[in-house]
Amino acid sequence: MKITVDEDKCCGAGSCVLAAPKVFDQREEDGIVILLDAEPPAEQHAAVREAANVCPASVIELSEQA
Ligand code: SF4
Repeated sequence: MKITVDEDKCCGAGSCVLAAPKVFDQREEDGIVILLDAEPPAEQHAAVREAANVCPASVIELSEQA
């Protein structure tokens, strides 16, 4: 799995951080998403999919190959 995030669209809601705190963080100053791990291990995949689903701005894009 590969993750990409479009920081320009992020509204800083933080839902992704709640869903997958090992993969997403937020910048302290404005809450914009920080991608901690663009190719997370298998045990994180369910949490990452949940994060993508709950993101209100559809910022998180997943590609499932590899
Ligand atoms: S849930 Fe989406 S909009 Fe909210 S901080 Fe995460 S990436 Fe940004």
